[in-house]
Amino acid sequence: MFEFLPQDRDPGTAGTWLLLRGAELAVIEKDGILSLPFGDMPAGGEQESSLYIGQWQGAPCRVVPVGSDTELPAEFQLRGLTSPMPQISIELLSLGGLGRQILSWHENSRFCSRCGKEQRWLPGGWGKVCRQCDTHHFPHIHPCVIVVVRRQGEILMTRKAEWPEGRYSLVAGFLDMGECLEEAVVREVREETGLEIDNVQYIGSQSWPFPSQLMTGFTADYAGGEICIEEDELEDVRWFPVDDLPKLPPKRSISRYLIDNYKDQK
Ligand SMILES: [Zn+2]
Repeated sequence: MFEFLPQDRDPGTAGTWLLLRGAELAVIEKDGILSLPFGDMPAGGEQESSLYIGQWQGAPCRVVPVGSDTELPAEFQLRGLTSPMPQISIELLSLGGLGRQILSWHENSRFCSRCGKEQRWLPGGWGKVCRQCDTHHFPHIHPCVIVVVRRQGEILMTRKAEWPEGRYSLVAGFLDMGECLEEAVVREVREETGLEIDNVQYIGSQSWPFPSQLMTGFTADYAGGEICIEEDELEDVRWFPVDDLPKLPPKRSISRYLIDNYKDQK
């Protein structure tokens, strides 16, 4: 159970540590369960960069980065938050992701983007204010769309060259300025595949804090055109029958949820 609270509400008492090395979370195995370290700040953590983020299981929780070449205590295990099989609970995965997003915002907002001077935290929240020109800045969250395009028992799937061999996923991309989400879905499908769609329906969303995306998931129906691959971005685009799909994105991703949800309906 986690309660997200502002960084300046730290009660100062002992608590748990969300130790992050990039997108890897340090956990300790105790009685067969992986949990967060508790108590004094673990060796290797950068004290001056630690931040209170709220209450986890009734105790203060603080996020702290560790350098890529810092040695951690022997009992610590690092678990990749974006790995296909992270082997930690969904709660720890979400908490680790939030910590990663907070550190990313903190590290990227040290100086004002308007005048270049140093910033400080706004009291009672996660925004910052410039010490010089008083401009307020708030955490950047970037909306993205992802869509299952359907055509008579088939799904439209795309593949990037850098993905593991045989892996396909769904059409996805960032929202442009001035666009609504549904317009972004239509545009991304057109740009990546050359196809037209209709009946765009919102299904659900997922935070993807690597570093700051909000994925919004949709279904849509094929409405016309022939596949024309956007070759700068993609290696392949094709239709797959729902009962003969290629290697898919990992469970816990919204793309996989959208695909499984459609398969279950068939
Ligand atoms: Zn400024």
